[in-house]
Amino acid sequence: MIDISVEALPNIKKERGAMLKKLGISTVYDLLNHFPKRYEDRSRKKTLIECFDGEKALVKATVKSKSYRQVRKNLDMVKLSVYDETGKMEVTYFNQKYMYQSIREGGEYLFFGKVQRDFGKLQMVNPVTEAEQKNTGGITPVYALTKGLSQNVFSSFVKSAILAIDLQTKETLPEYIKRKYQLCDILFAYKNIHFPSNEQALKLARERFAFEELLFFELGLLSKKSNNSLNKGIPFTDYKIVEKLEDYLPFKLTNAQKRTVREIAKDINSGKQLNRLVQGDVGSGKTMVALCALLIAANSGYQGAMMAPTEILAHQHYDELCKYLEHFGFRVGLLTGSTPKKEKALILKELKEGSINILVGTHAIIEADVEFKNLAMCITDEQHRFGVNQRGKLFEKGKNPHFLVMSATPIPRTLALIMYSDLDVSIIDELPPGRKAVKTLYANEKDRLKIDEFLKERLLNDDQIYIVCPLVEETENTDDSLKNAVEYSKVIEKKFPGYKVAFLHGKMKNSEKDEIMMRFKAGEIKILVSTTVIEVGVNVPNATVMMVENAERFGLSQLHQLRGRVGRGEKQAYNILLSDNPSKATMERLKVMVKTNDGFKISEKDLELRGPGDFFGTAQSGFIDMKIANFLTDVKTLNTVMEEAKDILSKDPRLEREENQLLKENVRKIFG
Ligand code: ADP
Ligand code: MG
Repeated sequence: MIDISVEALPNIKKERGAMLKKLGISTVYDLLNHFPKRYEDRSRKKTLIECFDGEKALVKATVKSKSYRQVRKNLDMVKLSVYDETGKMEVTYFNQKYMYQSIREGGEYLFFGKVQRDFGKLQMVNPVTEAEQKNTGGITPVYALTKGLSQNVFSSFVKSAILAIDLQTKETLPEYIKRKYQLCDILFAYKNIHFPSNEQALKLARERFAFEELLFFELGLLSKKSNNSLNKGIPFTDYKIVEKLEDYLPFKLTNAQKRTVREIAKDINSGKQLNRLVQGDVGSGKTMVALCALLIAANSGYQGAMMAPTEILAHQHYDELCKYLEHFGFRVGLLTGSTPKKEKALILKELKEGSINILVGTHAIIEADVEFKNLAMCITDEQHRFGVNQRGKLFEKGKNPHFLVMSATPIPRTLALIMYSDLDVSIIDELPPGRKAVKTLYANEKDRLKIDEFLKERLLNDDQIYIVCPLVEETENTDDSLKNAVEYSKVIEKKFPGYKVAFLHGKMKNSEKDEIMMRFKAGEIKILVSTTVIEVGVNVPNATVMMVENAERFGLSQLHQLRGRVGRGEKQAYNILLSDNPSKATMERLKVMVKTNDGFKISEKDLELRGPGDFFGTAQSGFIDMKIANFLTDVKTLNTVMEEAKDILSKDPRLEREENQLLKENVRKIFG
């Protein structure tokens, strides 16, 4: 019943069903699991005098007068003048003519919305308005939705789903677990995650879902690890080849790179199947480690594969690998979504025969028709961009191949051990010598002219510039903010005439994004204005400035990733963090950025500053696609879950006991 189509619910018609599809919702289960992105606290009423500029507030006020005006063809306006015992306010509704009929002069209403205060004059535009507290009461969920689907309508869908299904019978956690950790039951959890009756109930609901999500995840990873450790690894023979490689490199491998290669060799030599995460800060030279691993495999007569999350990264790796592997007579192939059919057919043939030694590519390399002769070394780059299943698919292309995953998202070591509990971990904690540390500075609007001058200087020096513009939130209804971003890039164009400016955003097709990135890499585009989609891992050594507008909106780890796009060449690089919001928390965050370039330190700090339990700001961590749990803020739960998962598996390694059947089912759902 929970797996039936949402269109079976009484209030969901075809077209709405299509909108839900866009959000990835097709079954009732999906609908119930589309959790709110955040919550608004509408439980405390304010008087008008208490409202300050820019805040969202709930006020109760009496309507003194109302007016209606058709402004132009597609725009009309209802205006109210309202008051309470402390002051007055103007309320405006655009294109909500029905408000004019439904609002009564002299009547008292609740208004919830963003307050604007201009020279003491209060204003609200399009507030949620009602005579009796319904939607303005308590804690109200805010969902990530698509255009044409309102919060209220979505809530009504969820409500009918909860009514239609006997959730009591859909429990996913065994009784003994719920009892041990005092977790609420599933019906309570669904009701209160979507319609919190109060803060405490919401907290309980969230805790339960986070616990369960992490538990299934850990159980899956741990049972995978114990399966893997039974696997015999494919033996390789000759590691000396790495020394030969060094003759061709224009630099010496760093000690950290060498150590990591040794750790890899040691795993393989011990007869084990390699399962290792290589974590290294941006620019630490992970690609070289991958190259070494692939070279060793090829030299032992086996094939290797390397998967990257984007075309441009795949191209970049391909170029780099070709440069060195061809000295040894090994052939490298490149396969991406845009490889022409004919070429693809040839690559597939040569791959099967074994005349291609190394295959580099995007997700295209895990498609069903890709067959290897003897794949023995799999590598995924920027691991956090892939799901666990995708890793699995690549693995299945070989017979127990060795596996190396690489990630540039520095996370505290303890956290890495949990998140990647099916893997051993190597850390590259050293940057290649001679790198100039990126100079990071904080600035605000007053410094704008100086900054423009500085950017002009960089351009005259033939440098290239990244600008991350006022954020377009990728999941929200983005039309307006997208417009702002486009306008912003026009302003930049005007400021720097004669320099090619391009604009990159998340709503673009991959092929468009890639094309712009290639042109930036080639030096044709001088200034790249972008939302945060600037691809991870892209190497453009000539780009020396990373300017981030509204820096307060980013987490530390994200800022560090962005900063990692520059400082990859000989030239001095700069990171400018602009923010006009010098709140104490913001300043503290930005100060960390100015003070240190060490990604691991930054991630520890990030964890500390964000702290656990900030339920009003459950910004998702970008590490792994978790619906509700957050690897940064749910550390405590994560530790508990890790212990519990180990305990469960030590008693029941294959989850065969009666009481663990629910766990088994759910783990299977996630890991396939
Ligand atoms: P990341 O770890 O972010 O993936 P890359 O592998 O892209 O880093 O390497 C960043 C840059 O450093 C590349 O230009 C690469 O050629 C260079 N590099 C890698 N290893 C060394 C080294 N040992 N000495 C000097 N430069 C290196
Ligand atoms: Mg990389």
